[in-house]
Amino acid sequence: MRKKIVAGNWKMNKTLQEGIELARTVNRQVEDNGIVVVLCTPFIHLTEVRNIITKDSLFLGAQNCASETSGAFTGEVSVDMIKSTGADYVIIGHSERRSYYNEDDALLNKKVKLALAAELTPIFCCGEVLAERQAGNHMRVVKTQIEKGLFDLSIDDFSKVVIAYEPVWAIGTGVNATSDQAQEMHKAIRELVAEKYGNLAADNTSILYGGSCKPSNAKELFANPDVDGGLIGGASLNAADFMGIVSAF
Ligand code: PEP
Repeated sequence: MRKKIVAGNWKMNKTLQEGIELARTVNRQVEDNGIVVVLCTPFIHLTEVRNIITKDSLFLGAQNCASETSGAFTGEVSVDMIKSTGADYVIIGHSERRSYYNEDDALLNKKVKLALAAELTPIFCCGEVLAERQAGNHMRVVKTQIEKGLFDLSIDDFSKVVIAYEPVWAIGTGVNATSDQAQEMHKAIRELVAEKYGNLAADNTSILYGGSCKPSNAKELFANPDVDGGLIGGASLNAADFMGIVSAF
């Protein structure tokens, strides 16, 4: 059965001390009730946050990884380095990486494979920009991102991937996708996965929604049959908001 997951993406926020405080509060409040909660922190926080985690349902993730395994790549952090901190997840293909750092489908596909080889669970992000939705191209855009990013994986590897649908126009804008828009896209993604890998694989794939998710809209979004949780940016920076979203299930 697919997992219900709420993952917080802290982005480039929180000093180490602030991150430790936030992680401590979240760790205290997380209940071991089957919902997987993930803290995707900046690289420098990973080890400290790992040492704070005592709950079985609370996991650690990175927000990016290098596209090479090791060597002379100044400033980069490899999947093995991430794994060695005790992290289990890594966000790959966030729209900010795609747009500000020109990460294309081929590079993201490479990162997904490196993450899987290091036994990290990729949280693979996809989503259209506003102009693409307005032009009616959102389904095609997301389909292409998923096909190019993931569909040369074996079924075994694909089964380890989490997908996050994040309409770019909803990220950090305060304007979330409506419940119907989210369900429509998540259903389409699940159907796409079913066509490629079969119904069982599709049924077992966790598909998260991301984009201005907050305690006030999480319940409605998560009530959809194909929405298996959320990737949370702004609201993950505050324990009360983040835990409010977790408890929306
Ligand atoms: C994100 O960046 O992944 C995100 C969903 O951000 P926000 O929740 O702030 O829209």
